Amino acid sequence: MNHPPAPKLDAVAAGDPDPEVSAHLAACEPCAAHVAELTEGAAAFRSATNPGAFAAKVRDREARAPKARRVVSIGWAAPLLAAAAAVVLWLRAPASPD
Ligand SMILES: [Zn+2]
Repeated sequence: MNHPPAPKLDAVAAGDPDPEVSAHLAACEPCAAHVAELTEGAAAFRSATNPGAFAAKVRDREARAPKARRVVSIGWAAPLLAAAAAVVLWLRAPASPD
């Protein structure tokens, strides 16, 4: 029996309807148990967490971590800096004696 890919099982657990996956779940105990575990975990998280307070904590943590954003932007610029350095080295290299 071929099992649906994990993202499809995750989507069904999150509430997205998928008749093909639902039919599989009716016949496959391991997949049904996996989806039930995800569904129960999400329900437990929702009941234990105030969504507004959780979002506020995430925003607060983002606001207090500006260094992490700089690291990401440097990571984005690193290939450009490396390419610029390669061009400079190439321009400064002595001409080959042909
Ligand atoms: Zn299965």
